[in-house]
Amino acid sequence: MSEMIIKNGFVFDPLAGIKGEKKDIGIKDGKIVDASEVKKGKEIDASGKTVMAGGVDIHTHVVGPKVNVGRLMRPEDKLFRSRTKERNTRMQMGFAVPSTYATGYAYARMGYAYVNEAAMPPLHSPHVHEEIRDTPILDISAMPVMGNNWFQMEYLKQGEIENNAAYTAWLLRATKGIGIKCVNPGGTEAWGWGMNCLTIHDPVPYFDITPAEIVKGQIQTNEFLGLPHSLHVHGNNLGNPGSAETTLDTLKLAEGITTNNKFGREQVLHNTHLQFHSYGGTGWGDFESASQKMMDYVNKQKNISFDVGFVTLDETTTMTADGPFEYHLNHLNHLKWANVDVELETAAGVVPFVYDKNSKVCDIQWAIGLELALLAKDHMKCHLTTDHPNAGPFTRYPRVIKWLMSKQARDELLHSFKYADKVIDATIIESMDRELDLYEIAQMTRAGTAKCLGISNMYGGLTPGMNANVAIYDLNPEDMPKDPEMIESAFSRAAYMIKDGVVVVENGDVIATTPRKTIWTDAKYPLNELVERDIREKFLKYYTVELENYMVFDDHVYNTVPLEVESPAA
Ligand SMILES: [Zn+2]
Repeated sequence: MSEMIIKNGFVFDPLAGIKGEKKDIGIKDGKIVDASEVKKGKEIDASGKTVMAGGVDIHTHVVGPKVNVGRLMRPEDKLFRSRTKERNTRMQMGFAVPSTYATGYAYARMGYAYVNEAAMPPLHSPHVHEEIRDTPILDISAMPVMGNNWFQMEYLKQGEIENNAAYTAWLLRATKGIGIKCVNPGGTEAWGWGMNCLTIHDPVPYFDITPAEIVKGQIQTNEFLGLPHSLHVHGNNLGNPGSAETTLDTLKLAEGITTNNKFGREQVLHNTHLQFHSYGGTGWGDFESASQKMMDYVNKQKNISFDVGFVTLDETTTMTADGPFEYHLNHLNHLKWANVDVELETAAGVVPFVYDKNSKVCDIQWAIGLELALLAKDHMKCHLTTDHPNAGPFTRYPRVIKWLMSKQARDELLHSFKYADKVIDATIIESMDRELDLYEIAQMTRAGTAKCLGISNMYGGLTPGMNANVAIYDLNPEDMPKDPEMIESAFSRAAYMIKDGVVVVENGDVIATTPRKTIWTDAKYPLNELVERDIREKFLKYYTVELENYMVFDDHVYNTVPLEVESPAA
């Protein structure tokens, strides 16, 4: 079909251990091949430029019901624009919660190829898949939310890992999801009665199971099935001063558990947006960073990974399956609040939030995210996210990269804060000289995230046989710009973005779109009679939909690529 060669670029491919080597990359029929195999076709001159695999985002909220509630309740967030140069694109709107079309184009401009939707309520999976269909260029997976699911709380209360595994495998098939997402375990169910679980030992009303038992049971279920990704946790007590203690209690639940999977994943627990979970102090008056304490622990654990959730200091919209947290936030800032409770499964809330640069608290949050990433010893396990749009829109990733790569950029901003002295007292950011390099940025944005999701045989690298997703940035690693703003602009507008072998972005403008894929996990562990009976009974008694209409119809899911997992030996 089509052939292409990318010549003379500086290649950063951590999955293959390539650190800025000058190297040609060949592409044939949508896959990476050895450059010597390309005889004809398009030639791209990448001399003096940085070449990386297409970006892989491990945690973002881009499709589904709560995202759409965010779009509906915030017409003031809309910016309508249609770039004159981008003639074949649809209208793009929304700053913090962009429309589906704007989302796909904006990720592609930054050189991203794959995103993982972080929270899909199982009952509403058709909504998620409808929006995936309308999101251009990107390959997408979605994680069904399970930390407050009635079936799972009942099985795990009894220690029935195999029954829970059978239900989980069924739910992944029913929703076409990729893995197990756990949000405020137990707490969101407690919120069904207006309550919460703030520590890992607070029992869930009526179910009488604790968050600790839910998390531990879900890790065991995940490794029993051998799923590509690990358990993906947003723990209890998010966003409160002192949350670091709860987080460390949660992380310790993974101690002594080893991975069981054929996908190259090394962790058993992924803690998402760790920044919101690394707070010290006892109230907003003595609020301080606990990043050092957090990373002293995390750096020693081989079976834990995390993404940061960097605060970008913008006006944005928060949206999470953590219902009680959103209510709490609404009481702090008195802005609009939306809430949706989903029968037997989960809940969600949406509240606008202004991370004001003149607020001491927001600036400390900004510092904590950067500290976590600068203290990390292994950037394969520390990933770049903003929990889009919770800590800021994903379009700010290039700005975050600038802060990580330039102490000058950090210091200039820090010293422009109204309460700079108080922020410096409550954090360690001013004393940190470390500047990350392009190899570490490639680990945080593609190699590490792909490995952690269990898809590093197809995404996140440039080894022959992998999908031909390549980002080329106008940055010369041998002559990095003195002005840090140039780093932000280079990562904002890729010189070229190639998706499945097709040039989709040139000089920062979208010039084409390509077919894309929905990735999900087909765990071939069968339902047993007991679990099948439980499912039928709960649908008859409690669900408002029929079981036959619950599972997302095959023709409702766009271009599926299953990750197949053989069932464990009986
Ligand atoms: Zn999230």
